[in-house]
Amino acid sequence: MNPISTIAAIATAPGAGAISIIRLSGPKALPVLKCLFRPHSRSEFWPPRRLRQGLIQNQLGLLDEALAVWFPAPHSFTGEDCAEIQGHGGAAVTALVLEAALQAGAVLAEPGEFTRRAFMNGRLDLAQAEAVADLVAAQSAAETTLAARQLAGKLSTRVNKLSQKIFSALVALTAELDFNEEGTGVDLTDLSRRITEEIQPPLADLLAASLTGHPFRYGLRLALVGAPNVGKSSLFNALAGQNRALVSSLAGTTRDYLTIDTIWEGLRIELCDTAGLSIAPTDELDVLGQQLTRERLQAANLILWVREAGSESSLDFEALNLAQLPPERTLIVWNKLDLAAPPAGRPSNRPEVAVSATTGLNLPELKTTILKLATGQIIPDPPEVVPSLRHRAALTQTDTYIKATLAAITTGQPPDICALELRSALDALGLICGRTTADDLLNEIFSRFCLGK
Ligand code: GDP
Repeated sequence: MNPISTIAAIATAPGAGAISIIRLSGPKALPVLKCLFRPHSRSEFWPPRRLRQGLIQNQLGLLDEALAVWFPAPHSFTGEDCAEIQGHGGAAVTALVLEAALQAGAVLAEPGEFTRRAFMNGRLDLAQAEAVADLVAAQSAAETTLAARQLAGKLSTRVNKLSQKIFSALVALTAELDFNEEGTGVDLTDLSRRITEEIQPPLADLLAASLTGHPFRYGLRLALVGAPNVGKSSLFNALAGQNRALVSSLAGTTRDYLTIDTIWEGLRIELCDTAGLSIAPTDELDVLGQQLTRERLQAANLILWVREAGSESSLDFEALNLAQLPPERTLIVWNKLDLAAPPAGRPSNRPEVAVSATTGLNLPELKTTILKLATGQIIPDPPEVVPSLRHRAALTQTDTYIKATLAAITTGQPPDICALELRSALDALGLICGRTTADDLLNEIFSRFCLGK
């Protein structure tokens, strides 16, 4: 990345809509724009942040009629001079306009380079920059809300407040140490109080939100498993609201697993139908299918163990090998309730719901139970901020250093050690907003962005 180059990219999905946007950022944004774009109004003055209508031309002639706008630095997304051209959305015309911008002196932007420049110029911190990509990728209302809040700085504000508390504790400790050069007789009660009262509670809140908010941020993976013919595929279709999986009274219809994404109450749900598990696989394909099922069991946030209400058979129970069905991740679904009620008087340490995939009986209750088990709420509502997995790793590191500071105090270690641990906690927390993030990590984060972002 050359920070003084002027970059250009198509910011919209090529050929996918009526309008396409070409973005420019860098010192030559306006000269490049002037080179391609002839405004209808003759004025030489380019009013900032106002759309102008005109014609786009390359060396060979007319390409498009378009709108263009320029944003002088520093009041732009990247903090540099920026311009945008809104032209017609055809893939060919858009590519030609981009080509003309490159011929006029711009260079092709790398993925995420606009946002990276915004980060480098202090327009966004790293958590906000990541939220730009999250917002583009969001597939559910919950993911959109969380990304928008993160972009607005809600996570950064909480992290910065916490950093400030750690920093103040460090400053106070350093002052004590300066005052008492020997390090003996330094009173660490205030540090201990600051940690337990001011640092640990908000840190624990953020860590808890990253766990409880996980399904809102990353969606929920549900795996339907059970013996052959209990109605897994029927239930899969009924929950997905479409006939995707083959349903048949013949056992062993599903060999590969099948997934479909759907949205429930604003949450992204991945439903997975799997090959039936049995004690004695019938053939080689059955063995492979069952192996895949066991892998999906591990990957699922919640396992729907489908059983047949009228069947007393314990075969499915044994075949599933209960150890693979951790109680906190398993919901028993008794299917075919239209034919029979589930057998009574069986002890079970797992939640249960009885449904009929064919008639739809109790399917709403099943969905509510699933959401309640996964989110702990009847009407799912995400926490205000949900740290991502990357943020969670930084928070966990911070927590480790904070605990180490407390341990150093209680075991009577030299106060210098406490200062070192606190400094490390501050550095770990700084990874979230990018204060202490190394270049290679930034490269990795921004390379996941799409072109034009
Ligand atoms: P899978 O092998 O577990 O995926 O089961 P399928 O969904 O293929 O269903 C096996 C058979 O059970 C088919 O004949 C379905 O029509 C039937 N079936 C599935 N669910 C129900 C239900 O709720 N009630 C009734 N009566 N039959 C069902």
